[in-house]
Amino acid sequence: MSNALNKLVAHWVRPEIRELSAYHVQNPAGLVKLDAMENPYTWPDELRDEWAQLIRGTDVNRYPDPAASELTARLAETMGVPEGMRLILGNGSDEIIQMIAMSLSGPGRSLLSVDPGFVMYRMITIFCGMHYVGVPLKAEDFSLDVAAIKQAMDQHQPAAVFLAYPNNPTGNLYAEQDIIEIIEAAPGLVVVDEAYAPFTDESFMSKLGAYDNLVVMRTVSKMGLAGLRLGLLAGPAQWLDEFDKVRLPYNINVLTQVSAEFALRHKVVFDEQTAQIRTERTRLLSAFSELPGVTVFPSAANFILMRTPAGQADAWFGGLKRRGVLIKNLNGAHPMLADCLRPTVGTPEENRRMLEAFIEVAG
Ligand code: PMP
Repeated sequence: MSNALNKLVAHWVRPEIRELSAYHVQNPAGLVKLDAMENPYTWPDELRDEWAQLIRGTDVNRYPDPAASELTARLAETMGVPEGMRLILGNGSDEIIQMIAMSLSGPGRSLLSVDPGFVMYRMITIFCGMHYVGVPLKAEDFSLDVAAIKQAMDQHQPAAVFLAYPNNPTGNLYAEQDIIEIIEAAPGLVVVDEAYAPFTDESFMSKLGAYDNLVVMRTVSKMGLAGLRLGLLAGPAQWLDEFDKVRLPYNINVLTQVSAEFALRHKVVFDEQTAQIRTERTRLLSAFSELPGVTVFPSAANFILMRTPAGQADAWFGGLKRRGVLIKNLNGAHPMLADCLRPTVGTPEENRRMLEAFIEVAG
């Protein structure tokens, strides 16, 4: 029976899907959770009370506003989307990547990004039956290899290029001029993914409209609303009207629409939290660089990429976990990430516990 079942599945499920491993999430139970680039701060009580009142008056018997108009207007204002640009919303920016890929997919079509980069670009490209072109970053500083990207764009004619700015998992910002050169040379769309915008002053948002092939993606996840699942894409209506056609109806649920609109009205609370994270990042960067044999890479995000002494990453990761601290182990994820760990910046108390654990495992 199970043999027949296995054969049936193997016959019908696409081989490239069967070869994938599902997106893995670690169990954080009982641990200081510094593995997923979340904002560690919860809401002050007054805000919670006001929010609870709002939810109390919210009905869920009807479908949500399909265009999420109020929330869209609030996002346009708070994210500084230039006049004349359109916005579409996704159930997390992951869903927006999927909408773009579905709209652009077809026989022989490819999407291009850089490696090591955000894994969902590659995964979603494969989900959508397209070919993924991953161009290596420069090994010494994870900067863009513009010549190699141009060569790959010439060869593969990718329908879209995805660039995370700052990049995950490396944390760095690329040179603005390098991105502009790629936008100018790309045959198709360029998506600048600004998921980590709350932790940097750099952005391509104000450049929307200056290039026919530029769109900018954002999320509210990293500012402190990861649980709501809300991402946005801003850009010329000609592109976004097409992507909107593959959006599932009512993809932004009633509670997310109401809660995110409410939270963005109180954005100053989240700005204070992200400012604190930026301060802690500076402190952690210098503390990590004092660990013996560790290389710390610059970060414009809310996480820090570090390289342990050769062959130590797995042991350090395990040692931290035994001391109650969960971070991300990137050793083995990509050759350029050998011996690399990626802790998220937490609260001062969480960071203190993490640093203590690091000092112990580093001996
Ligand atoms: N882009 C980048 C670069 C990311 O690191 C992440 C989350 N890790 C996302 C997009 C997805 O964010 P979300 O789906 O939570 O909006």
